[in-house]
Amino acid sequence: MNVVVCVKQIPDPAAPPALDPTTHTLDRTGKLILDDSDAYGVEMGLQLASGEGDEVTLVSMAPGGEVSGLRTALAMGAAKAILVSDDALAGSDALGTAKVLAAAIRRAEPDLVLTATESTDGYTGTIPAQLAELLGLPSVTFAKKISIDGSTLKVERQTEAGYDEVECPMPAVVSVTAGVVEPRYPSFKGIMAAKSKPVDILTVDDLGVSKDEVGATGAGQEITGVAKAEDRGAGEIVVDEGDGAQRIVAFLQELKVI
Ligand SMILES: Cc1cc2nc3c(=O)[nH]c(=O)nc-3n(C[C@H](O)[C@H](O)[C@H](O)COP(=O)(O)OP(=O)(O)OC[C@H]3O[C@@H](n4cnc5c(N)ncnc54)[C@H](O)[C@@H]3O)c2cc1C
Repeated sequence: MNVVVCVKQIPDPAAPPALDPTTHTLDRTGKLILDDSDAYGVEMGLQLASGEGDEVTLVSMAPGGEVSGLRTALAMGAAKAILVSDDALAGSDALGTAKVLAAAIRRAEPDLVLTATESTDGYTGTIPAQLAELLGLPSVTFAKKISIDGSTLKVERQTEAGYDEVECPMPAVVSVTAGVVEPRYPSFKGIMAAKSKPVDILTVDDLGVSKDEVGATGAGQEITGVAKAEDRGAGEIVVDEGDGAQRIVAFLQELKVI
């Protein structure tokens, strides 16, 4: 079984984010890291693909031939990776990204495709459903538990009230929640092994995707301007003089929280 896991490589969220002054898009020129959200998909993929001959293939789209985040996921145990990197992708919107990822996933001939529910930097949460539509596969979202029975996929799908039990044929595209599994830490042996695992770096032309459909040219959205968020106020310090509880209740009532 070949499980494809989509992994996004993002600017380190711990560092202050910067926007390109001209395009207003996120500055992605520095080192990129594995999006924490995708570590759950990698772990789930590794647990599902644990039989003889099973493997996990990573698929990522990122600028500058960036592989740092991929190496982290390879160190966790994935077998190989496909990276799509091309200057023509600058300014791609979510649909353009999904078209590129879908073309790369097709090459990997997956039995199952895993993604996170939403990325940490873009968080539109639209890629998983777009991938399923473009690949013509069933889409199951918000998976909190996944098991495989023959060629049937069984998913517990998180809802506000509890969870739905969903079954569908494989292959399928499944987005996982952060609670699905606990991602492993890469071992020293895994980190060393990851250095020599294959990463296939492809361009848009290699995938046969039209440049008109991706990048700023193909994007249906454009950031026309950005504004600084208002600084937070200092807040109000309330000294409890025996009426603390009542004052909290009054404050929450004012906010219409209660
Ligand atoms: C204005 C604009 C400019 C952009 N410029 C660039 C650019 O210059 N270079 C570039 O590479 N991208 C660029 N992008 C694409 C962007 O970084 C996202 O990859 C894309 O919009 C997907 O949106 P999202 O992160 O909200 O996806 P979500 O739907 O929130 O992601 C859900 C899941 O899909 C998977 N996924 C999403 N994106 C990727 C990815 N790139 N690779 C692998 N898996 C992924 C992950 O598993 C992720 O957790 C740009 C987007 C916009 C809107």
